[in-house]
Amino acid sequence: MKVDVLALFPEIIAPALQTGILKRIQDAGGLIVNVYNLRDWATDKHKSVDDYPYGGGAGMILKPEPLFSAVSSLNTSSDANVVFLTPQGTPLTQPLVEAMSLEAHLILICGRYKGIDERVRQQIVTTEISIGDYVLSGGEIAALVLIDAIGRVLPGALGDFESAHEDSFSQDLLDHPHYTRPAEYEGIEVPEVLLSGHHENIKKWRHGEALKRTAQHRPDLLQNLELSDDELDILKTLKNSS
Ligand code: SAM
Repeated sequence: MKVDVLALFPEIIAPALQTGILKRIQDAGGLIVNVYNLRDWATDKHKSVDDYPYGGGAGMILKPEPLFSAVSSLNTSSDANVVFLTPQGTPLTQPLVEAMSLEAHLILICGRYKGIDERVRQQIVTTEISIGDYVLSGGEIAALVLIDAIGRVLPGALGDFESAHEDSFSQDLLDHPHYTRPAEYEGIEVPEVLLSGHHENIKKWRHGEALKRTAQHRPDLLQNLELSDDELDILKTLKNSS
């Protein structure tokens, strides 16, 4: 997969690409990320990429010319998904991340200031994505969130020991609680079942805890699930104990 990023502040993104899973998947050739400075496509001697809004008002707007030129020079085979990171976009979810991880070429446009000229959105943007209902000062961090989330589900990014299979949202459930050594810390003991070595019981316990945690923190997720009688019993116990 290739991801081209157009940003006014590439230095926000570059260091994170050199770390951990994102570095590993790039080194293995599973992901190519190029971060470009939008100013490289500015045409005046000041390298300006923004201008005042027509109609007045506060804030600057990213001009259309550099964005149109940049996208046309990067999208040579016209098959890229041109993504604008914006608080007005489709909320980013794990299923959307997984769908996007199957694409061959993404071009990510990071806005700044008040945003981008509307004609860019109308003519060249194919997908708009929001990373949440809040406003960031620029799209760089949002692009990084998207790249990180996609990078870790690409084949070969995670080893078996860190598989994404039980992560939150992968099965419409939040993840179960985790413990490591010591078995007792300040009087708090690790649940006995985890020390039992009984894989079937451990699996059952983890599933039950994931179910309870989801019911407590994100009951909306359970609406997508068809729960078995056993699962309904677990939730009933939770209700009775609260
Ligand atoms: N005026 C815009 C609005 O209200 O929709 C917000 C502009 S924001 C200050 C500057 C840039 O940050 C946006 O163009 C976008 O690229 C990025 N951005 C801000 N919040 C975001 C979010 N929740 N998700 C994705 N990108 C975001």
